[in-house]
Amino acid sequence: RAKSISHNSYCIYDAAMADTIRAHLTLGGGLRKAIEEEQFELFYQPKIRLSDKATVGAEALIRWMHPELGMISPDQFIPLAEESGLILPLGEWVIRRACYQLKEWREQGYPSISLSVNLSGRQFMQSDLVEMVSQILEETGVDSRYLELELTESMLMADAQQTIEKLHAFRALGLTLSIDDFGTGYSSLAYLKKFPIQTLKIDRSFVNDLGFDNDDDAIVKATIAMANSLNLKVIAEGVENHSQVDVLNSYNCEEVQGYFFARPMNNSDFSVYMDSHLMGQTTLLAVH
Ligand code: C2E
Ligand code: MG
Ligand code: MG
Ligand code: MG
Repeated sequence: RAKSISHNSYCIYDAAMADTIRAHLTLGGGLRKAIEEEQFELFYQPKIRLSDKATVGAEALIRWMHPELGMISPDQFIPLAEESGLILPLGEWVIRRACYQLKEWREQGYPSISLSVNLSGRQFMQSDLVEMVSQILEETGVDSRYLELELTESMLMADAQQTIEKLHAFRALGLTLSIDDFGTGYSSLAYLKKFPIQTLKIDRSFVNDLGFDNDDDAIVKATIAMANSLNLKVIAEGVENHSQVDVLNSYNCEEVQGYFFARPMNNSDFSVYMDSHLMGQTTLLAVH
């Protein structure tokens, strides 16, 4: 079943479908049932290091494998999960699934790839979030330095003091923290100094016209330069063509993600991808 719906083209984007989904959710409590029945799957999009094109990590992106509607993209149901509070059990499922996946990759011989998960605002405010993550790490035996959390600027602004404490608690656990969609929110440069963040992910809206739009060029170049001098890693999101790669290379961007390199893939497709892309990177694969 998973094979036949493993491609992005089956995502549902049009408005009519969105209404159908909404109706299903509000009428049938579909989302709650979906959580109980675990109708979700994590897809994995590789993160590529530009210097040697090695796959150094991946981002976990949730999909809802609806029994009647097919694959539903997160933009269609994450907001609903936020509204209803179901994001808490769903978010916990994502973190647990991601950690079991890390464990599986380690067993498969991909020992050094990290995996990032996206957090939503309400989930980040959950008071026992740090304990929950800590407990899942213990349960799965995963080395915390391979787990990364993607936060957004708006989450960081909500309650500065409590936020800083929470971020430090995650750092103490050994996790890596990144700011997703960087540049689209109220990014205050002062916060970059105040928060223990390791990575900035430049939003794909700035990457799209790279090389053709002087403003985007300037923004991306300045962001990368700033991040490099603050010792933050930079990942450019949404890289779709070679000329964007050339521009990012010339600005010393460290890592990239995007359809040009690889789309988000289900577990089994990701393994096939890794088997052909890890060659030479780890000696462990030589035994295959
Ligand atoms: P995001 O975290 O910024 O993820 C990047 C999105 O861009 C993903 O969409 C990915 O498939 C897409 N993308 C990657 N490369 C390209 C490219 O080259 N071109 C274009 N046009 N798009 C590209 P996706 O998977 O539909 O996820 C959308 C958003 O949903 C994510 O944005 C994230 O904010 C949220 N999301 C996904 N999974 C989770 C989750 O497990 N929990 C929470 N709370 N949010 C999630
Ligand atoms: Mg993300
Ligand atoms: Mg993003
Ligand atoms: Mg986003």
